[in-house]
Amino acid sequence: MLWYSNKAPIIERKYSKSILRYFKVGPHIGLTINPYQGCHHRCGYCYATYKWAPDFYDKVYGKINAPEILESELNKLKNTPILPVMISSATDAYQYAEAKFGITKRCIEVLQQYQIPFYVFTKSSLIERDLDLFRNYKNKCFIVWSGATNDEKIKRIIEPGTPPIARIFDTIKKFVDSGIKCCINMDPIIPFITDTEEHIESLVNKCQQLQVEHISGSILRLRYDIWNRIKEILEIFGILWTVKEYERIYGFQEPFLHEKNLSANKAYTDKVVNNLKDQISKRNLVFGIDEIIDQISHLTQDYTI
Ligand code: SF4
Repeated sequence: MLWYSNKAPIIERKYSKSILRYFKVGPHIGLTINPYQGCHHRCGYCYATYKWAPDFYDKVYGKINAPEILESELNKLKNTPILPVMISSATDAYQYAEAKFGITKRCIEVLQQYQIPFYVFTKSSLIERDLDLFRNYKNKCFIVWSGATNDEKIKRIIEPGTPPIARIFDTIKKFVDSGIKCCINMDPIIPFITDTEEHIESLVNKCQQLQVEHISGSILRLRYDIWNRIKEILEIFGILWTVKEYERIYGFQEPFLHEKNLSANKAYTDKVVNNLKDQISKRNLVFGIDEIIDQISHLTQDYTI
């Protein structure tokens, strides 16, 4: 049984009480905005799903008052220095519902009105609709194009609600050609599906061809609900025999009940991530987004709203 229904997600409006949230992911801290709850992209490995959102893949809520709430929260932060805002940490702000509601666009207009630096994570080509908005603000924003693979057959299974990879590459090219800083984020790298040297090399080659200078990536983390979906994916690929290898790499035994994210062991992580970093440095590209965050933060380091 798949992790999503065979129908298109239901899209509804909701009213939010707040929109700016603090986040901490590894060394990164800052503020994030999630204009939507739920996600049409339906990635099997998604970290944003959990027991509090059982219909995450099938019901998408647009936080219809988000731009107004954002403006009022920014007004309350007057005289407070703030870091670049991440859009989004727990949904894709340019998923299909954005074509209907335009909430993300209106939030970005508010951020620009307050001259706040920001960056967008997306797997969508719909962002092209707002290319001019980004082009006119390119010193204070950047885009992270997330995705686990550039192999369309794999993509249809693990990221079934996303646009075709060729369409996304066309969009990335338009952003690069417009001088907007971009990063391609290979996240997550999935053991036995997207972790081979050939797979990683082919994606890095594509980044180089697109003139995307920044590339990041990290290994899949597992939680019990994510593991259940990954097992469905392994079954679709006919490689359920790798369950034993997952147990070894992540140090667990079935049944997998961890409620917190479990990381792959150091030997596996070093091997795969070092391969990615080698491929990146061989082409004089840059690993990670720290440098771009610094660049857009530096411009506004003394900035207070
Ligand atoms: S695009 Fe992001 S938030 Fe949406 S399903 Fe995929 S991983 Fe989850």
